[in-house]
Amino acid sequence: MEREQVVIVGAGPCGLSAALELQRIGIDPLLIEKENITHSIYLYPTYMQFFSTPELLEIGGYPFTTPSEKPTRLEALHYYRNVANRSKLRIRSYHTVTRMERTSGGTFLLQTADRFGHTKQVAAGKVVLATGYFDHPNMLGIPGEELPHVTHYYREAHPYAGMKVTIIGGNNSAIDAAMDLLRVGAEVTVVYRGDAYSPNIKPWVRPIFESMVAKGRIAMRFRSRVVRIREGRVTVLCDGAEDTIASDFVLALTGFRPDRRLLTETGAELDGEGNPVYDPDSMETTVPGLYIAGVAASGKDANEVFIETGRYHGVSIAKHIASSV
Ligand SMILES: Cc1cc2nc3c(=O)[nH]c(=O)nc-3n(C[C@H](O)[C@H](O)[C@H](O)COP(=O)(O)OP(=O)(O)OC[C@H]3O[C@@H](n4cnc5c(N)ncnc54)[C@H](O)[C@@H]3O)c2cc1C
Repeated sequence: MEREQVVIVGAGPCGLSAALELQRIGIDPLLIEKENITHSIYLYPTYMQFFSTPELLEIGGYPFTTPSEKPTRLEALHYYRNVANRSKLRIRSYHTVTRMERTSGGTFLLQTADRFGHTKQVAAGKVVLATGYFDHPNMLGIPGEELPHVTHYYREAHPYAGMKVTIIGGNNSAIDAAMDLLRVGAEVTVVYRGDAYSPNIKPWVRPIFESMVAKGRIAMRFRSRVVRIREGRVTVLCDGAEDTIASDFVLALTGFRPDRRLLTETGAELDGEGNPVYDPDSMETTVPGLYIAGVAASGKDANEVFIETGRYHGVSIAKHIASSV
């Protein structure tokens, strides 16, 4: 069986950052990634612009410069690919870690599967889980959510040209999608449970969005929840009264949540809300040698960790591992 000193599960920005920090202390970790590197960024809306400036997305001290103030998705994909190549990170792409256990001797056994179902076992002295959250959208749990005109991922506007679209959510993804859809002539309604605009909306987007609402070009429904989705329409509940909105498409942009399965399989403790228990100074979970990095370390509010902050988790992990070997 293959044996590794450290395995990092997930090659998103925070997994890559952890790998670079481990390289600095003389460890050459193996990254196992179920798709290709920075798959979550690949899944972002095609023409998305980051809210962070490039230097706040840098990892491993590699400079990220862009001609405009905020990088695009394409520029970020280019940057992280280059960093991974330059630093010669060992990345096993298109392999999913399907199971993980810890032996009584303290070794981690990871079961992996490739796209064709071939399985392999890798033994590791230490494991960093940097599996993100993008695979698991927050489901609404309402009838009709599984219908083919409903999606939790928005890529670009073209398929929605001239269509009636209901967007569920009131954060950046919902607001950006609404603005995008307007440009292709979609009829947009945003259904949001809050009673005012979210303070998280990018400050340079909010005034334009508000003016579109004021002009009646986007219908904004506050204090509202979609309670049922049917072919061609959704039912919305607002202040105790139900109403119907004609909808050819429904974009449920209600965020994501991390999957805790690999953590629990190894016996790592979760708190009362199902979030991982770890030491914030070392990022070590309650299982010795098992670390957590990036947005996987966040609690219920996945927005509390993002690239700007999660990229530093690797620094704490490398420091802790260096002091323990
Ligand atoms: C539209 C949008 C805009 C954003 N803009 C910004 C911004 O401007 N600034 C900012 O700081 N943050 C931003 N974020 C948040 C940022 O994308 C996340 O915080 C970041 O991707 C977290 O990095 P990560 O490495 O922890 O996880 P991810 O990037 O999600 O990476 C996790 C990786 O693990 C892999 N994986 C999962 N499970 C397994 C498994 N079992 N086996 C192997 N591999 C696995 C996944 O395929 C993935 O590649 C934005 C998010 C979205 C959705």
